[in-house]
Amino acid sequence: MAYKISEDCISCGACEAECPNNAISEGETTFVIDPDKCTECVGAHDSSKCAESCPVEACVPDAERKEPREQLLKKWQALHPGETPKTT
Ligand code: SF4
Ligand code: SF4
Repeated sequence: MAYKISEDCISCGACEAECPNNAISEGETTFVIDPDKCTECVGAHDSSKCAESCPVEACVPDAERKEPREQLLKKWQALHPGETPKTT
């Protein structure tokens, strides 16, 4: 399940540097997550780093983009060819 950023975002930028997939960028009114690059941090971390770094809890799971862990890992592998995932 990809994460998304809610309207509560105050555009502090803290989450951007934490994403292992460079999925986060500054949008017009809030920061935004590219769902094609978000793996819920699967492949890199045991927990979602953007959610942990956000001071206003604006990084939340997108219930409309549910993906099994296996698919998230495949997504990570496609984004990081040749690298070994740190989580499975
Ligand atoms: S959950 Fe992880 S991979 Fe997804 S946007 Fe947040 S930091 Fe990036
Ligand atoms: S850490 Fe939270 S408030 Fe800051 S830019 Fe990211 S989503 Fe927005």
